[in-house]
Amino acid sequence: MKELVVIALGGNAIKQAGEEGTDQQQFINIDIASKQIVKLSQAGYKLVVTHGNGPQAGNLLIQQEEGKSLVPALPLNVVGGMTQGQIGYMFQNRLQNNFSLAGKNVSAVSLVTQVLVDKDDPDFQDPSKPVGPFYTKEEAADLRDNKGYIVKEVKPGVEKSWRRVVPSPEPKDIVEKDAINALIASGVVTIACGGGGIPVKQDGKQIIGIEGVIDKDKTGNVLAQSVNADVLMILTDVENALINYNKPNQEAVGAVTVDEMQKLFDEGHFLGGSMGPKVEAAMRFVRATGKKAIITSLDKAEDALAGKTGTIISA
Ligand code: ADP
Ligand code: MG
Repeated sequence: MKELVVIALGGNAIKQAGEEGTDQQQFINIDIASKQIVKLSQAGYKLVVTHGNGPQAGNLLIQQEEGKSLVPALPLNVVGGMTQGQIGYMFQNRLQNNFSLAGKNVSAVSLVTQVLVDKDDPDFQDPSKPVGPFYTKEEAADLRDNKGYIVKEVKPGVEKSWRRVVPSPEPKDIVEKDAINALIASGVVTIACGGGGIPVKQDGKQIIGIEGVIDKDKTGNVLAQSVNADVLMILTDVENALINYNKPNQEAVGAVTVDEMQKLFDEGHFLGGSMGPKVEAAMRFVRATGKKAIITSLDKAEDALAGKTGTIISA
């Protein structure tokens, strides 16, 4: 049996820090990621891919803001769906091309995905996730009064120091999980739950889109459990999670048990909003399944699956 690996790709795999995010730049990055994914497929792994969307959603929100006198501005849940379509298309195109170059007839398909969250999630009371452009104090006050946005000063001291914040609820379940499993069963490299999925809440028999952002690593764990994956592999821009991060005694975490990782997590080595949620998602997967989770960089993915590098968390 081929091992099924869920890959959660960081934003860097799509838009590097400092890049504007032109289509050419994004296609170049996605081509590099796609070459690695094709290599893993050729090495015998079945693959499901999920990805971040922070920079893409940020740019689209600017377009909504700037274009709103000409066409209606679309809300965050719709923007989430738009980024899944955009990034999914780019991956389908470059994966298809790279499979062709490798002489393989493998399809890649992306699925617009909704993720159920609890309507009583505590983050709805105190939204924490900054999204979209920076505003001046006056612009922020206007958005608060006229659009009902919750705004916070996130960078005191600069002119545009305010941002909109939205809830970041915990992912509970994937609405389209049966379709995802059907795609996997048919041999398709499946791309799903982009940007953490579009958050929806249950309202009687209906599900309703929410203006919020789910952490893509946490959704990666729910996805990996939903497809019964053998490995959850979180790919970012560092080869290992590090203890004493950015200090002279910084050190890579290699192969560890989930209890050992929990101890390091509790000691505060992994920053919230970046490495923290990756470690949490990885530990949740290992505890729930008894299988392994890996945190490493895109270029080390194959070596890490072979146990040669990366942070590898086992039961
Ligand atoms: P992604 O887009 O892949 O989700 P993030 O920027 O959210 O990437 O998280 C990866 C970053 O986390 C690394 O580039 C590093 O700057 C930061 N980081 C924070 N704490 C640690 C740590 N303890 N070990 C390694 N990286 C860390
Ligand atoms: Mg991140």
